[in-house]
Amino acid sequence: LFSSLPEVEKDEVFALIGQFRSDKHPDRVNLGVGVYFSDEGKSRPLEVVGKVEKSMHEQHDVTRHDYIPIEGDDRFLSAARDLVFSPSFPTPLKEQKADPRIVSVQTISGTGANHVGARFLADHLKPRCVWVSDPTWANHHVIWESVGVPPRTYPYYNKSNCTLDFSGMMDVLERESQPGDAILLHACAHNPTGLDPTREQWIAIADLCHRKRLFPFLDNAYQGFASGDPVQDSWAIRYFHQYQPPMEMCVAQSFSKSFGLYGQRAGAFHLVLNDTSANTKDNVLGNLAQLIRGEYSVAPRYGSTIVRTILESESLSNEWSAELQLMSSRIRSMRLALYEELCRLGTPGSWIGMFSYTGLTPAEVEVLKKQYHIYLLASGRASIAGLNSHNVKYVAAAISAVRAK
Ligand code: PLP
Repeated sequence: LFSSLPEVEKDEVFALIGQFRSDKHPDRVNLGVGVYFSDEGKSRPLEVVGKVEKSMHEQHDVTRHDYIPIEGDDRFLSAARDLVFSPSFPTPLKEQKADPRIVSVQTISGTGANHVGARFLADHLKPRCVWVSDPTWANHHVIWESVGVPPRTYPYYNKSNCTLDFSGMMDVLERESQPGDAILLHACAHNPTGLDPTREQWIAIADLCHRKRLFPFLDNAYQGFASGDPVQDSWAIRYFHQYQPPMEMCVAQSFSKSFGLYGQRAGAFHLVLNDTSANTKDNVLGNLAQLIRGEYSVAPRYGSTIVRTILESESLSNEWSAELQLMSSRIRSMRLALYEELCRLGTPGSWIGMFSYTGLTPAEVEVLKKQYHIYLLASGRASIAGLNSHNVKYVAAAISAVRAK
């Protein structure tokens, strides 16, 4: 029955993880997976997460393995919503008030939020296509194709000078998009290029969405990693949310990277409506709940309980934001160290504005893997979090050697 299935390419990131694990070379470096490693090259839970887990275990809450509601844990959802839409952080509990325009559901992390959102829009907005950046997170293509909405690409990366191709992006969208199309935008820390629009550019993108009646879908997987400040990093989302005249839009939110909860799958999908009548909101929530029920029934509760506990407490929130600062500043300093070392070595190439997109060719990436045990994606995307003060010179020297060939 299944002997003539189409062949499917293995997911590159997860395939690289496997190859890295079986490489026992002492100098091996993992720049493939988007996971944060400390300067000792270790992945470990955030301190604040460990603290909350300890107190959760001590409490012996007898309901700790119960199902949460289909739509998700209310308290988690309101904390998650505030983190994205509130202009201040931490938001004191007494100042939190639900925005009647937003309907939120809990999802299986950011991937689940992208999928629930795509499925919901495919069923109820029925877009002709979804516009995604070229390049984008590979899973965006997989997710939208799986719900029958073809992705089309808008230019994003200017290879010749490693910058954002903003005019190319706007030109294509201006000429080729049509009312009712969806458009996927990375809220911050664009994966894989690491290049984000400026605020002026975001304003122009929002104007274009409004004028051309495109449906904005903001993917928010790295809040806090671009600037170190979660509020600054959600500026674009808030701009769309507050746009006048009001625009309908949605946000897929992940806690994998920002809370280091990769395997716990904590996430949320937020849909911003224009019609806030109780009837419409109930119906939207009912439809989302039905979709979730048929796919995974309810989301997991462990990671979301940790996130909620942190975000509901001002002091834990402050601890989290300090750790987030630490992670993002370590990444920034490693990016700079790599850049400086490449320049010092006189490595040929355009290293300006070098974020996670190195501009290395697939052949160069292959040599880095085979000869130097350095793992990054064939596109040249390097996860800078895999660099540390012990391996950055080694990586720069290897890139230099590969480039010089
Ligand atoms: N969106 C983007 C752009 C990503 O890079 C990722 C993870 O790499 C995700 C969403 C979702 O990640 P997760 O499902 O682990 O939350």
